[in-house]
Amino acid sequence: MRCDVAVVGAGPAGSVTAALLAESGLRVTVLEREGIPRVKPCGGGLTLKTWNLLRELGFRVEGIPRVKKISRIRLIGWGKEGTLDRRPFAVAVTDRAKFDEWLAREAESRGANVLEGTSLRGMRRIARGWEVRFDGGILEADYVVGADGAAGKTGLLAGLRSGWTTSELILALDVVLQDRSGDDLVFKMDAVDGGYGWVFPFDGGLNIGVGGIPHPGMDLARALRAHLSWLGEPDGWEARGGVIPVGARRVVAGNRVMLVGDAAGLADPFTGEGIYYAVLSAEVAARSLLRRRGGGDPVRSYVDGMSSVLEEAGVRLKVSKIVLPRIRKFFEIMMVYRPIAEKFTDYAIGKISFSGFWRWAKRRLPLAWLKTLVSP
Ligand SMILES: Cc1cc2nc3c(=O)[nH]c(=O)nc-3n(C[C@H](O)[C@H](O)[C@H](O)COP(=O)(O)OP(=O)(O)OC[C@H]3O[C@@H](n4cnc5c(N)ncnc54)[C@H](O)[C@@H]3O)c2cc1C
Repeated sequence: MRCDVAVVGAGPAGSVTAALLAESGLRVTVLEREGIPRVKPCGGGLTLKTWNLLRELGFRVEGIPRVKKISRIRLIGWGKEGTLDRRPFAVAVTDRAKFDEWLAREAESRGANVLEGTSLRGMRRIARGWEVRFDGGILEADYVVGADGAAGKTGLLAGLRSGWTTSELILALDVVLQDRSGDDLVFKMDAVDGGYGWVFPFDGGLNIGVGGIPHPGMDLARALRAHLSWLGEPDGWEARGGVIPVGARRVVAGNRVMLVGDAAGLADPFTGEGIYYAVLSAEVAARSLLRRRGGGDPVRSYVDGMSSVLEEAGVRLKVSKIVLPRIRKFFEIMMVYRPIAEKFTDYAIGKISFSGFWRWAKRRLPLAWLKTLVSP
């Protein structure tokens, strides 16, 4: 079997890459280890910037299943509470399994060949690209896109990356409660040291979870129990675990391979948001691969296209190392000096960049900090 591009993984990064390439006429094969729909621990939160980007890329976002658009965000912690409101909405929450299935079917309907229950087993460099071994077959492809998530093998097999260090990962646990409802996005900032607990309502259910950067003494299972008990939920739920890579690899492509989404470690260390960066990197990868028709080098083009994305991710990671260990103080600052919380929301929904937020916030932090000393 031969194709132009083999995409490993049918999460948002893989399906968006495949859809954009297939609709432009490239022969694309997607290898997905699981059957679709598959279980994926995730809050299912699509920020306004993700929603807008998907729409700009030609996805009919109003068709995303089980969506609830949420405009009110509640920040709670250490006995304090604040509310932010963004119209028309700040985050559209979906059932993640259904969302990924919808995206994979979009890729198929645009011409991608999606092979389910098919795991990548090995890769060998050949003259015209790669020979990709998977359960039950061999595929030859000019280029390979590694969209295989946090524990993906493509980057390792292509020699682009080694494993993650613990400081490059968020650990998270979540629970899905069906037939429940809620109106607000809730962030419980004191649920985990250096992280947070959440409640994300989608249409017909709730996703509840806890997560944070690992540190000695962290006990996520206990934090989840405490979070659910704070919400008044009786026992009987089943928790799922996942990791979110935030390490922003410097090397995201080489040797006719590109890494996208979690495989490239692009998620936000503050919020754990990864779907936006999965879609964004998929767009850059697809655009780069299509440049080949004009004689360009797709890998070079992807590296160039991702440089600003990686630079931003680097700033986020650096700032997170200052802020997250002092999250209580920063939360108190946001509670007494609301413009910081408002500005962070501007970043989260895509109105400004993270560096823009940080440049703005840095100048105001000393005054805001002084306010926390005099506020009750
Ligand atoms: C608990 C939790 C909550 C989260 N909440 C949010 C949220 O609310 N909003 C948000 O934006 N982000 C959230 N994230 C992060 C988000 O889930 C990820 O950033 C996002 O899934 C990345 O998409 P991806 O396509 O890169 O990878 P994935 O979605 O992980 O997809 C990778 C795919 O590759 C497949 N695969 C892996 N290995 C192989 C192989 N060898 N062969 C073939 N296929 C393979 C997998 O089966 C999978 O389908 C959360 C993460 C966790 C763990």
